[in-house]
Amino acid sequence: MHVKALRALLPAFAALLLTAACAHAAPTVVSLQFDDGVADQWTAHDLLAAHGMHATFFINSGRPGKTGFLSYAQLHQLESEGNEIGGHTIDHVDLPTLGPDDQRREVCDDRADLIAHGFSVTDFAYPFGSYTPDTENVVRSCGYNSARITSGVASPNSCQRGCPAAETIPAADVYATRTPDSVHSDTPLTELESDVTHAVSGGGGLVQIVMHHICDGCNPNSVSEATLSAFLDFLQSTPGVQVSTVHDVLGGALQPVVHGPLLPLPFAPTNLLQNPSLETADASGSPACWKLGGAGTSEATWARTNDAVGGVGAETVTVTSLGAKSDRKLVTKQDTGTCAPKPLAGHRYRFTWNYKSSTAVRPVAYLRGTDGGWKFWAQGASSPRAGGWRQAMWTTPAIPAGTLGVSVGVSLRRVGTMTLDNLLLQDRLTPLPPPAPYVPSGPETVRRPYRVAAGRLPVLVYGRVPGALLADQIAFQRHVATLRRAGFTPVGAKALARVLRGRSAGVRKPVLIAFAGNAIDSLALADGLLNRDGTRAVLLTRAPVRKLASPKRWDVVSRLALNRRAKRIRMTFKTNTPTLLRALRAAGRT
Ligand SMILES: [Zn+2]
Repeated sequence: MHVKALRALLPAFAALLLTAACAHAAPTVVSLQFDDGVADQWTAHDLLAAHGMHATFFINSGRPGKTGFLSYAQLHQLESEGNEIGGHTIDHVDLPTLGPDDQRREVCDDRADLIAHGFSVTDFAYPFGSYTPDTENVVRSCGYNSARITSGVASPNSCQRGCPAAETIPAADVYATRTPDSVHSDTPLTELESDVTHAVSGGGGLVQIVMHHICDGCNPNSVSEATLSAFLDFLQSTPGVQVSTVHDVLGGALQPVVHGPLLPLPFAPTNLLQNPSLETADASGSPACWKLGGAGTSEATWARTNDAVGGVGAETVTVTSLGAKSDRKLVTKQDTGTCAPKPLAGHRYRFTWNYKSSTAVRPVAYLRGTDGGWKFWAQGASSPRAGGWRQAMWTTPAIPAGTLGVSVGVSLRRVGTMTLDNLLLQDRLTPLPPPAPYVPSGPETVRRPYRVAAGRLPVLVYGRVPGALLADQIAFQRHVATLRRAGFTPVGAKALARVLRGRSAGVRKPVLIAFAGNAIDSLALADGLLNRDGTRAVLLTRAPVRKLASPKRWDVVSRLALNRRAKRIRMTFKTNTPTLLRALRAAGRT
């Protein structure tokens, strides 16, 4: 009995001795990683469970639920079974190719969205393994504890000299943790095994195995189920090797959610034009930085007038006779940059001007190309005769590559008069400064049902619904259809902007704005618009109040019910805003 028991213990002793022999070396930790959340990664679910192992799945929050990608339900199941969900940007973008704000939106908002879906997101992987010191700072500022690249550790086909056999624990640069080559369809099992055995013989460390598709050659970035299964068997039977998620090996607490900056907004304070209000005259008496121009033949006089919209001066032209294909116009002085701004290739610009005229006027634009010369480029639609001051707007086409300067102006093509003032040229994407963040200090709920008659209160529906939120999108579309059937008027972003700026005839404030559940981008956009115009509006959304940059501007509707037959809308407000309620009453509350 005694001897038999001792014999039974011998293998355990041997294992202990082996462990003791390796105790001077760091452990070798293998982290199995699946990038991009593609649908065939679900194969890993059963394999991992069967081997009692956990992996890290780096997910692009813009993708779950779309065709070809894992669903949120699958991701939740993976996490609940001990796997880790990490971030990988919203749209799988090459971060260093983006500007700083876009980088922060892609990294921070991806993490925020995944956390909003209930995941504990602490670790990041750079799409394409592409990073710079700046992107590392972005990832750190977004609340991640680590970020992974896709190189830097020795592999059979790359970096055999000068690269370590494994990442160190803790990592040398935790925002650029290194890996051997990613797994491809032609990566043999022996290479995966050697990635691990080299790390063991090299003194241990972290071996991150980067995988994408799981299939038999459906994609160059794939591993077959058979190879993956055999590799997991190998890991299980190799002494001194443990398998761990990134979070479990690198650690760190879940940091607070950090949102990216607000999206670019359509109305911006920046004017690219000099002397936009025509107040300053140059030596010749013309408005500085403006050209009193024209084509063809005409008899015309230019004059400064005190009948101005902004400041004390405006410029008037009176045309008494005009030849064929002729005009008179005020345009930005066509120089090499003192007056004519250099626009960004690919961007569109919004040209706004104030005018009075006895006949139609038309916006025009000229470009200076790399040959140095100015050429006519484009013109907008005519704006009608205006007896009193009127504002008009034209958005240019996208600026061609190689453009060195842009000149904009307004042309008069008939006998008559035209007075111009306050000209504004803005990049259509120039962002507004973000409003100060606001965090509600406590509940602001006042439950008061209100009924508003359809047709009397304009309902503006605006929102880009992230593709990931399929359920929300369907509910949203159904909602729009219901509103329309009930006699409300869903409109888009442009109309929303017009109403908020008080330039939409027949549509009065206040407005009811309906949003999809979590359309954070749209909320940020409308938030900025309201902020700028000082308008209040009703927001219909299921998104939490904290997602709004300035929720005090909003009257959040917690519940909205439509009675189609009665054509009434019943709203329960979460915030108490007497001004708005009075306005709603005036607009048709019964
Ligand atoms: Zn990827």
